[in-house]
Amino acid sequence: MRIAITGGKGGTGKSTVATALAVKLSKENKVLLVDADVDCPNDDIILSINPKRIKDVETMIPRFDKTKCIKCGKCGQVCKENAIVQIRGKFPILVPEQCNGCNACKIICPVDAISEAKQKIGEIFIGKKGNITLVSGKIKPGVEESSLVVHAMKKYIKQTQKNYNWIIIDTAAGTHCPVIAALLDADLGIAVTEPTPLGNHDLTLILELMKQLEIKSKIVLNRSDIADKKIIEKTAERFKSEIIAEIPYNKKIQEAYSKGEVIKHKAIKKIAEFLK
Ligand code: SF4
Ligand code: SF4
Repeated sequence: MRIAITGGKGGTGKSTVATALAVKLSKENKVLLVDADVDCPNDDIILSINPKRIKDVETMIPRFDKTKCIKCGKCGQVCKENAIVQIRGKFPILVPEQCNGCNACKIICPVDAISEAKQKIGEIFIGKKGNITLVSGKIKPGVEESSLVVHAMKKYIKQTQKNYNWIIIDTAAGTHCPVIAALLDADLGIAVTEPTPLGNHDLTLILELMKQLEIKSKIVLNRSDIADKKIIEKTAERFKSEIIAEIPYNKKIQEAYSKGEVIKHKAIKKIAEFLK
């Protein structure tokens, strides 16, 4: 079963829940934990795993042949990423960090002045602890398209995922492209949130996204006792979802969190039991 641990808002405890759930499920099962928060992966720190780099993620990047280029400007016009800057009458200039390798510029060039080169945009790492295999991705600083690294990770795990009873995908925060890339193919999405207006606002967005993607959603309420949870219950009802576990604001959990350790709480057992 493939479960995505997500949540519209950053800092709600996604990685805390994902790692604790991985540890719980790994007592009796083989678990593949995928840290798809490629801008800021941290599951390795929480689990005290020292992952090894196993793969570079590369994309196509255009290379301009000045002997052929007629300075028509079509490549710059077609590039949706604004990765090609061109001043009228001058040769095009590439901003590599903006390029997502879509190939549109190469296709449109009327004189075949663009060829394909490769650029490294990120790396994939793998580590192991007991029954948990951790695959994480990291995007090269300054590169915009983090969803390309997420797609590359998902392609990489395709070869081995059948060896695991559980696949847990820890997504980035938000509802942008890398989150969508991480959510695709999930059997269930668990949104981690907290009972605040901001938490509720972002929860609404992620539940709406999962509805659009036709992914069944459930909710874990973190710091459940810091405010009235009615606001979240209403949203859960609206999306025909439910709160399957509540993690209170407690000193022990906060200490574990601040030390970058795996949390222990009966709520994690409750999530694992719900999944069985
Ligand atoms: S490959 Fe795509 S994103 Fe990159 S420069 Fe060409 S058109 Fe722009
Ligand atoms: S489309 Fe081709 S010919 Fe036109 S400016 Fe770009 S590289 Fe040069």
